[in-house]
Amino acid sequence: MSAAELQGWFTEKVEDKGVAFSLKLGEHVHGETTPYQRIDIYSTASFGYLMAIDGCTMVSSRDNFFYHEMMAHPALNSHPAPRRVAVIGGGDCGTLNEVLKHPQVERAVQIEIDERVTRLAERYFPELCARNGDPRAELVFGDGIAWIKSAPPASLDVIVVDSTDPVGPAEGLFGRRFYADCLCALDGGGLLVQQSESPLLHLDLIVEMHRFMRESGFAHTRLLHFPQPVYPSGWWSATLAQKTPGPLTARIDEAAIAKLQTRYYCAATHGAAFALPPFVAGAVARPE
Ligand code: SAM
Repeated sequence: MSAAELQGWFTEKVEDKGVAFSLKLGEHVHGETTPYQRIDIYSTASFGYLMAIDGCTMVSSRDNFFYHEMMAHPALNSHPAPRRVAVIGGGDCGTLNEVLKHPQVERAVQIEIDERVTRLAERYFPELCARNGDPRAELVFGDGIAWIKSAPPASLDVIVVDSTDPVGPAEGLFGRRFYADCLCALDGGGLLVQQSESPLLHLDLIVEMHRFMRESGFAHTRLLHFPQPVYPSGWWSATLAQKTPGPLTARIDEAAIAKLQTRYYCAATHGAAFALPPFVAGAVARPE
């Protein structure tokens, strides 16, 4: 039996990159096919519960904090007054949970296409859904692309795109038209942050995202990176786009950051996330 076919292991294979990551399983506790995708939940030997969508790892109990903290806090702490926030996708609610830790946030809307992702997260990842009852939170089940298109101009301060890979219903979330609609929905000084896959495996996609965002009218784009053990290569990224020109100013207030009760994010990891190794910096640099 080949390693990839070992019984009792979950393996996410990235065929075109020739890599795979495996977790030793306990049980397959839930599986269903929704109108949008296949969702499976497993208990694992050492990572708690694992949610997979269409065979790709979405979230594990043990290591989701890296991703959810870094999708929310660097962007929110780079905006002078993040009052109105939208999370596109993000149905496990982990990113929304981190967004709602910020006292400046007055309204946080999550637009997830597949309600079943959220219902299963409530059951298997209740810690990620702990703030869903916050009066500032609103859960919308629908297509994030259509929602952003119909959002009133200048009605949002931060848009967080916490989506699946750029295939199926998420494909349009990586396109110029969507970025142009985000630009319109953002107020002056607004920020868009989107998960942008692995700098090691998907640098071409990252470069294309930066180009599409700039071509759609964003003044600046920046990459931030962080560990994510269960995602292919174990190294992940998010791309931050600024609506208006000017330096990206970090609101690094140690006392406020301590109140976020984070496990990975802090003043030091905020700065470190934007420090790029040369092969990545060279690829995402704005062409002269
Ligand atoms: N952290 C994960 C990752 O990087 O692999 C993403 C997790 S989150 C569960 C991704 C969510 O995006 C899924 O629940 C999926 O249903 C949702 N999604 C995909 N396309 C969407 C769209 N067009 N509008 C809203 N939600 C979408």
